[in-house]
Amino acid sequence: MTTAKGNVFVISAASGTGKTTLVSRLTAHNPNIRVSVSHTTRAPRENEQHGKHYYFTTREHFTELVGQGAFLEHAEVFGNLYGTSAAAVQEMCAQGLDVILEIDVQGALIAKEKKKDAILVFFRTKDMETLENRLRNRKTDTEEVIQLRLKNAAKELEYEPKYDYTIINNDIEHSCQELIDIINS
Ligand code: 5GP
Repeated sequence: MTTAKGNVFVISAASGTGKTTLVSRLTAHNPNIRVSVSHTTRAPRENEQHGKHYYFTTREHFTELVGQGAFLEHAEVFGNLYGTSAAAVQEMCAQGLDVILEIDVQGALIAKEKKKDAILVFFRTKDMETLENRLRNRKTDTEEVIQLRLKNAAKELEYEPKYDYTIINNDIEHSCQELIDIINS
């Protein structure tokens, strides 16, 4: 008898695209889809919980984990280290669960290299102007941070051709359905 195995889906998106909303909608309605909880050396933000949003760790411990080969992929993003636990992903897949990695473009390519059957999904707004409006409307960032986020988003766009799919977020419900269709195909 063969056991069904889950797949890995990597989602990369610039800040302000709506990725967090997309993924929480997706997982709320699909118990067979899990989001991998990454390790990071960045400090927790208000309301972030250890083990739920991230495993918050020191640079020293993170480096030790890298040495042990604990990560499927890891990368430095905005001066902090982030990594995906290889064992956790493997275990969820073995249980037949589909796993979502919400990771940056560098990590996405490494994950694809290590796990050839991983599906890469690039999630973005229809243009930079829309992204800029969204960042401004959330009223959480200073002008300097908004400019930095836009610059990073433009840089990340260069990676889009390497992805298997692109979802353009015009409407979150529609985007969620597109992602479900990709996962089910
Ligand atoms: P934030 O600190 O705002 O939660 O995330 C910053 C960036 O790091 C985002 O682009 C996010 O997708 C990315 N990120 C989060 N976890 C990981 C990970 O495990 N690996 C990589 N490569 N990037 C990650």
